[in-house]
Amino acid sequence: MTVPAAPHRSVAEADADVIVVGAGPAGSTTAFHLAQAGLDVLLLEKTAFPREKVCGDGLTPRAVKQLIAMGIDIDAPGWVRNKGLRVVGGGLRFELDWPELSSYPDFGLVRTRQDFDEILAANAVRGGARLLQGVNVTGPILDDRSGHIVGVTAKKDGEEVAYRSRLVVAADGNSTRISLAMGLHKREDRPMGVAVRTYFTSPRHDDDYLETWLELWAGDQLLPGYGWIFGVGDGTANVGLGLLNTSAAFKGADYRDLLRRWTQNMPGEWGFTEENMTTPIRGAALPMAFNRQPHYTRGLVLVGDAGGMINPFNGEGIAYAMETGRIAAETVVQALGRGTAAQRERVLRAYPQVLKDAYGGYFTLGRGFVELISRRGVMNFATRHALPHPRLMRFALKLLANLTDRRGDASDRIINALSKVAPPA
Ligand SMILES: Cc1cc2nc3c(=O)[nH]c(=O)nc-3n(C[C@H](O)[C@H](O)[C@H](O)COP(=O)(O)OP(=O)(O)OC[C@H]3O[C@@H](n4cnc5c(N)ncnc54)[C@H](O)[C@@H]3O)c2cc1C
Repeated sequence: MTVPAAPHRSVAEADADVIVVGAGPAGSTTAFHLAQAGLDVLLLEKTAFPREKVCGDGLTPRAVKQLIAMGIDIDAPGWVRNKGLRVVGGGLRFELDWPELSSYPDFGLVRTRQDFDEILAANAVRGGARLLQGVNVTGPILDDRSGHIVGVTAKKDGEEVAYRSRLVVAADGNSTRISLAMGLHKREDRPMGVAVRTYFTSPRHDDDYLETWLELWAGDQLLPGYGWIFGVGDGTANVGLGLLNTSAAFKGADYRDLLRRWTQNMPGEWGFTEENMTTPIRGAALPMAFNRQPHYTRGLVLVGDAGGMINPFNGEGIAYAMETGRIAAETVVQALGRGTAAQRERVLRAYPQVLKDAYGGYFTLGRGFVELISRRGVMNFATRHALPHPRLMRFALKLLANLTDRRGDASDRIINALSKVAPPA
């Protein structure tokens, strides 16, 4: 499938209500919802689809919910459904089904980012957004008097171009050049992960569970993180691992080598060999727990990885990229519907608090969790003593995947109450 091209426009014609920088899951979702509300949206992407994006390609029910909300046809070929998680660790191997909830579907999906991001970008275009590919945004255009961002400069086909808008959304991922240019730097007091992955041609391509391995060893130390095997359904499996920067072993760790050594110890019939590797091992950072704030400043709204929205409990980022895209779009639509600049600003300034209300307490719990499992011996203790208890593990799945109903069962109520009393991150 190819994303329909936006018609070529001159600089003056490129003016839009909102510019969204980056057409990953956060940007395309934001652009879709903005355009659906009738705003003129310009979605600027530096690469051209289809393109690779380093990822595990795993989608939990939270992500599925957002896809359904945008009318994406997840019954079409290429979407691989899963029933839950298979956990391997402490000498055990067991399956935990996604919980039955009213708030979320009871299945997850796998889809390579090569397809996934293109599908979402095409959906944004179908929704009415104008997508320009091969546009590398280089900096903000600032209003002299207010200091607000009123557009962006970019490089397209080697030429400098400028696009103007009333608001700009930073959806340009972890490196978020546009946020940096607006003075928004990474918070060092937030956990950061690193994850690496590759694909193997393997019989493990076909699996109706997302498989996670809780034991990653560096010498005699169990590392805070996990490995995964996600069947892509096309003859390959996405195999990778993610680690947290909070342990001493993180510094100087050779992740690629760790992945190589881990997969070498897998059963031979799975075929996790160098010859079966279809792509080199690639990695990237996982910005967690609101590691860039505030999420709104001077005309710039942050969504997805740009705002450090990855769940510190499990390293999941796609669902949060799409959810914050939807929340940001709702906020922007309301703001631009107000009569005066002061009224618009009031709505936009509430956006960081809306995010804190939605995720702040939960992310604070996640930071505590990260700190705990980074202590020497804790992962070891947890895998030996927690894994054998099915009820505890069902609770852990709900907590780690952030899957509860507001008025659900006792475990839902415990998780919700803890998230509510924890200070918003
Ligand atoms: C190895 C690995 C495995 C992972 N596995 C999973 C997983 O299984 N499930 C999950 O939910 N999450 C996973 N994540 C996290 C997930 O990939 C991210 O959270 C998610 O991609 C964030 O989406 P985003 O749209 O915010 O940013 P991105 O996906 O990074 O998209 C940003 C977009 O902006 C574009 N861009 C950047 N700079 C510019 C610029 N200057 N001008 C124009 N465009 C620009 C980029 O080209 C890109 O298209 C994983 C991450 C890694 C590294």
